Amino acid sequence: MSNTELHHLGVAELATQLRNKQVSAVEAAQHFLARAKQHQNLGAFVSLNEDATLAQAKAADALIAAGKGGKLAGVPIAHKDIFVTKDFPTTAASKMLEGYRSPFDATVVTKLADAGVVTLGKLNCDEFAMGGANENSAIAPVGFDAAQPVRNPWNTERVPGGSSGGSAAAVAAGLAPAVTGTDTGGSIRQPASFCGITGIKPTYGRASRYGMIAFASSLDQAGPMARSAEDCALLLSEMCGPDLDRDSTSLDHPAEDFSAKLNDSIEGLRIGVPAEFFGEGLSADVRAAVDAALKEYEKLGAKLVPVTLPRTELSVPVYYILAPAEASSNLSRFDGVKFGHRAKDYADLNDMYKQTRAQGFGDEVKRRIMIGAYVLSEGYYDAYYLQAQKIRRMIADDFQAAFKDCDVIAGPAAPTTAWAIGAKADPVSNYLADIYTLPASLAGLPGLSLPAGFGEGHMPVGLQLIGNYFGEAKLLNAAHRFQQATDFHLQRPAGI
Ligand code: GLN
Repeated sequence: MSNTELHHLGVAELATQLRNKQVSAVEAAQHFLARAKQHQNLGAFVSLNEDATLAQAKAADALIAAGKGGKLAGVPIAHKDIFVTKDFPTTAASKMLEGYRSPFDATVVTKLADAGVVTLGKLNCDEFAMGGANENSAIAPVGFDAAQPVRNPWNTERVPGGSSGGSAAAVAAGLAPAVTGTDTGGSIRQPASFCGITGIKPTYGRASRYGMIAFASSLDQAGPMARSAEDCALLLSEMCGPDLDRDSTSLDHPAEDFSAKLNDSIEGLRIGVPAEFFGEGLSADVRAAVDAALKEYEKLGAKLVPVTLPRTELSVPVYYILAPAEASSNLSRFDGVKFGHRAKDYADLNDMYKQTRAQGFGDEVKRRIMIGAYVLSEGYYDAYYLQAQKIRRMIADDFQAAFKDCDVIAGPAAPTTAWAIGAKADPVSNYLADIYTLPASLAGLPGLSLPAGFGEGHMPVGLQLIGNYFGEAKLLNAAHRFQQATDFHLQRPAGI
């Protein structure tokens, strides 16, 4: 195997080659580091630390030589810059944390390291994961002097989706075989859809949030992004599991081998198709690709069942009340005292807080803090926050009613393919584009996006699969069977 082809391998194949010593972990790491630099115009990476990466790779090679390497020994991956890491700076793409170095690794980072992965670097994202286009990063990516939007490898004039846009772009461009992302309201599924890769957000609470910089704690979940469901299963199996001492919302549910059931037959699988996911606002090209994907599922033996999720539309206002409410509380810790940025000139303590936060936070983050503080304020709490909580419960109940008639739910991950950079300057138009990912987030359900074809301008379209609680294995199985029958996930952007 020549090194030039390493980036065409999936995680499973690469892990096998590493184990068989056809390639060393150091060679693999060097290859991907070189690619990260070669394609730095995408703005996918915000930090690299070659010495740390190569030290990890050497250690992986030693373990492999001793026959002791973990399942993913030597596999290079990169982390969204929302996970704290000892060996790399952690910024959450915010000036507030520029130069911050965590004294510990996030649980997800530790678990993957225990399985043997080598960390290539940290990936760009929207500031504090707030966004759906990765145009809100406030940190200069590797190779740039100033903050840039991340570019979609399929068309560099388009957004990669967000907030895990650097993660999705890196996989689509072959800068890493797999990466981590986080999903609060769609940030794994929507960028996976925009960049033609596979990504899964597990059931809320299955992956530890310890060391994941908090945006909206009742929604935030970590998950893997890779080319295929098979590769996602390998990473997700290592990422999940109870972390009860460190994350109070971690579920006491055992880790699972998500690769075990990938090949199960999907004959008779009941796929619920919610009418509300195919209404006004869904663009014709996305609809055509999703319809064709559902037909493919029928060919594979699945049955399509009409279901209804009547409060789908309400998920947008509900999410954009609850997520900012939680964000305004979570972000109060960034006050110039404990972490990162502190204003240089200030009159007194209050002024120090004010100056620090005015300088450290970007516009979208400030907007969310203001919305959050407003909906939590006395007099508005009942009208907004409490109402939103009640509707959130109803949205979860709607899913349970739908799951009486089906095993998984399918629909588009996003109403359109990736839009042009700068095209959605108005924040509300960004928020509305989250309509299909928000319901599963609010209900805490697992959701996956897989490549389902191409739309206008040959931009990728993602099919979203939503499962019931702890239904990750079923989602990965359904996605894997689809990927064995199609080759959308194997197609690559031109020139990369
Ligand atoms: N686009 C959504 C938002 O802006 C979701 C972000 C996320 O999942 N982190 O809040």
